[in-house]
Amino acid sequence: MLSNKVQDALNAQINAELWSGYLYLAMSMHFEAEGRSGVANWFRIQFKEEQAHAEIFINYINQRGGRVVLEPIAAVPQTWDSPLAAFEDTLAHEQKVTAMINNLYAIAEADHDYATRDRLTWFVSEQVEEEDNARQLIDKFKLIGNDGMGIYMLDQELAARTYTTPSPLATTAE
Ligand code: MG
Repeated sequence: MLSNKVQDALNAQINAELWSGYLYLAMSMHFEAEGRSGVANWFRIQFKEEQAHAEIFINYINQRGGRVVLEPIAAVPQTWDSPLAAFEDTLAHEQKVTAMINNLYAIAEADHDYATRDRLTWFVSEQVEEEDNARQLIDKFKLIGNDGMGIYMLDQELAARTYTTPSPLATTAE
């Protein structure tokens, strides 16, 4: 059985993952409106990934016989000055999420809840990837600057991103 402390922390993380999804959906809609369809596509897929992260926690709480509590999702920004600014916000946000996952891991460990701790190891690795992806795109946008051909080619690269479930853990359990 999940302790109330761990269950509350897991539910807070569901809200944080859904907020992340909402943030990336807002970024996607902003760049869609700006005619940057490749950037919009990249963030649209990021939105789906965040939903999958939330679903991993949802499935896990259900599997442990706990209770999922869905709190309101706070408002997100609506505009960004450039794709570079959006990816800088993405990196800063993912660094915060990494800190939240680490904190959750510490809560599970202090509670001797090793099952929860084990489930969190997937997220520990996932956060390394999330931060790395954002960092690499920041580097690329800085490298191309205002070069039209570079912007066009990078947009094509981002347009090619497709969604795949980040983990089988995100699919509906049982
Ligand atoms: Mg996430």
